[in-house]
Amino acid sequence: MNNTLQLCVQVLVHVYLTAVISRNQEGPGEMGKAVRIPKDDQEKMKELFKINQFNLMASDLIALNRSLPDVRLEGCKTKVYPDELPNTSVVIVFHNEAWSTLLRTVYSVINRSPHYLLSEIILVDDASERDFLKMALENYVKNLEVPVKIIRMEQRSGLIRARLRGAAASKGQVITFLDAHCECTLGWLEPLLARIKESRKTVVCPIIDLISDDNFEYTAGSDMTYGGFNWKLNFRWYPVPQREMDRRKGDRTLPVRTPTMAGGLFSIDRNYFEEIGAYDAGMDIWGGENLEMSFRIWQCGGSLEIVTCSHVGHVFRKATPYTFPGGTGHVINKNNRRLAEVWMDEFKDFFYIISPGVVKVDYGDVSVRKALRENLKCKPFSWYLENIYPDSQIPRRYYSLGEIRNVETNQCLDNMGRKDNEKVGMFNCHGMGGNQVFSYTAEKEIRTDDFCLDVSRLSGPVIMLKCHHMRGNQLWEYDAETHTILHIITQGCLTVSKLYDGSQGTTVEMCNGGPLQMWMLRNYTLLEVIRKVFYSPLDYKL
Ligand code: UDP
Ligand code: MN
Repeated sequence: MNNTLQLCVQVLVHVYLTAVISRNQEGPGEMGKAVRIPKDDQEKMKELFKINQFNLMASDLIALNRSLPDVRLEGCKTKVYPDELPNTSVVIVFHNEAWSTLLRTVYSVINRSPHYLLSEIILVDDASERDFLKMALENYVKNLEVPVKIIRMEQRSGLIRARLRGAAASKGQVITFLDAHCECTLGWLEPLLARIKESRKTVVCPIIDLISDDNFEYTAGSDMTYGGFNWKLNFRWYPVPQREMDRRKGDRTLPVRTPTMAGGLFSIDRNYFEEIGAYDAGMDIWGGENLEMSFRIWQCGGSLEIVTCSHVGHVFRKATPYTFPGGTGHVINKNNRRLAEVWMDEFKDFFYIISPGVVKVDYGDVSVRKALRENLKCKPFSWYLENIYPDSQIPRRYYSLGEIRNVETNQCLDNMGRKDNEKVGMFNCHGMGGNQVFSYTAEKEIRTDDFCLDVSRLSGPVIMLKCHHMRGNQLWEYDAETHTILHIITQGCLTVSKLYDGSQGTTVEMCNGGPLQMWMLRNYTLLEVIRKVFYSPLDYKL
């Protein structure tokens, strides 16, 4: 190359880099910054927000290929992955998604993945009604550097059946599912595929970063939380427990074994997806499929991990923008019943007793899914609780489940606020589950899905605190003959009392054998009998 040409190239490179860098700093939302909407546009912005339940005006202002910060742990940036990785199809299902979020998802995949690892991108349109998602979308994706296939569902089917359709059409060795409002960051794909190459039956999730629904600001998700769920079968993030930190010898760049996944973003070996039973096609619209898949993977011999070196952003919304044909509650309850009936064995009681209305919901035929569980020789839910999720909100062993009724007042213990540090109240027993459901566990805690009965001193008010499993203030001994609930550390008895603010509550007082200290634990004896049937003698060293 002669000198002039060399200089020319250098100048061009310089101009290009300056352009990229200046764009990085100046355009709306560049480097993942928040977008500010001027005062004059605020009314319009609020109107537009309703369409997708996120700030559409902000999203539309941001470049479809905006820059993002590199939020990875330092140790992740220097990791080297094998050259020979399996390739992946990326399946994105959508119903009435906004143009800018959908296309920004697609661009982030194309621009931040090595192309030899991308088999194709499959967009599954779940019967959207918006015009721009028809021909305009089809024409637009023709010009992209990676093959993009669009599949249309004939009728609204929900994300589960839409993903099944996308998976069936895919050709890659791995299937990567993404929501339609994601942004993949630098180096997101390689660690996911490398982990699957290492271990074919491992289903992997990236860390899900937060894209603000208000201003599209990009914030790193935490590598210190993992997936769990509560008695209502709501997916929840919980801190990664010490045992999992220890297993990884403190190396936060190693994958975290997670009891459940959030559901929208994960990669799975394509053949394994089929072997393990894909999805439950009997589930409608949205909800429950993430726990169903999580339980199934663990119980049937696979594993589920969060690969902490992979970061993908997702727009988290506070409300759903679309309709649920049949009603939101009905659809979610139906899906959750299918999940509980097939996978949770007797532990489905926790779900049914806290939400008694659910048992009226028709969940259709689950015989095919039960047959799958048989054929795959999957382990019981108690195994999952013991080995995969010992810090679960659902205790593996327990004495009672249901209301706790006082003999004198005939009222029930009530976890009023379902908040940390809230006093435990006494209210008329309503038999509707919810805040009046408690479980007396083998660890001798009296707990709800999130909190444990806790008291620090004699005559002090009994409150609900995060269960810490350190015994101490959370240890109780029920005597089924005298019906007393002894607080072991203070040697006081659980008592109905007027609290200092005049409300009816509970304290621990010197035991006096009186009826204000006598309690009936619902299902107490019944579950004693069930335990004798289900658990081995070892379990009786309580
Ligand atoms: N989705 C779909 N059909 C539906 C409901 C949802 O295709 O009936 C798509 C939706 O467009 C999104 C993904 O499924 O890409 C997950 O839905 P959503 O983002 O509403 O769930 P969230 O992330 O809030 O849990
Ligand atoms: Mn989503």
